[in-house]
Amino acid sequence: MIDSHCHLDHEPLLSNLSDVIKRSKDVGIKKLLTISTSLDSFARVKDIINIDEIIYGTIGIHPHETKENLVSSNTIVKNFNENKKIIGIGETGLDFYYNNSDRDKQIKSFNEHIIAAIETNAPLIIHSRNAEDDTFHILEKYKNNNLKILMHCFTGSKNFAEKLLNLNAFFSASGIITFKNSIELQEIFKFLPLNKILIETDSPFLTPVPNRGKKNEPSFIDHTAQKLAELKSISKSELIKITTDNFNKLFG
Ligand SMILES: [Zn+2]
Repeated sequence: MIDSHCHLDHEPLLSNLSDVIKRSKDVGIKKLLTISTSLDSFARVKDIINIDEIIYGTIGIHPHETKENLVSSNTIVKNFNENKKIIGIGETGLDFYYNNSDRDKQIKSFNEHIIAAIETNAPLIIHSRNAEDDTFHILEKYKNNNLKILMHCFTGSKNFAEKLLNLNAFFSASGIITFKNSIELQEIFKFLPLNKILIETDSPFLTPVPNRGKKNEPSFIDHTAQKLAELKSISKSELIKITTDNFNKLFG
């Protein structure tokens, strides 16, 4: 089992890393991908990936952080090449949910990350909220560049999912699929092909049922795997095998 998206450099995970890693291994997690959200975050991620062999990292600037952190594709590529355990570009993307974020800066940053992902042939980890049309139109421009797309914590519409499938995208399910009121999202994950699905916690955020009220951590991914297996009408062990294979295929 692989947690394809967590933030080990955020509290309370950072101060409890050895326990968090131990509990991850106890539930059968073989890899943790800890995601950068800013340049400061990347500096922490570079240290964290050295702590345990199961931990890998990414380089990228979260759309919320683009105000203070506008980086060029060259900077992203240079940081990516520094360490073999940095295996993805992101998280990047567009988030127009909060009005305080500057759209032009987000779009500029997203493009720089895409260029870096094409240059390094590494998967691009995308956050998209209230921005389906813009996200798709930007990605579509690069459709002939063999861009490896991973839609993290996918919560989009079926129409968006269909258009992204045409771009060969992968989709990651977070704890949101365990929420009682996410019937529509559960239907979308029933519809998505099994060979395009990954699982993630996005911890310390988005704690799955039945652990609501606690801070999320990678070991809780077990509940998301269980729920997704039910939605796909397969066993949890099959679901874990398939999503692990998908991760390994995407990240090479
Ligand atoms: Zn995230």
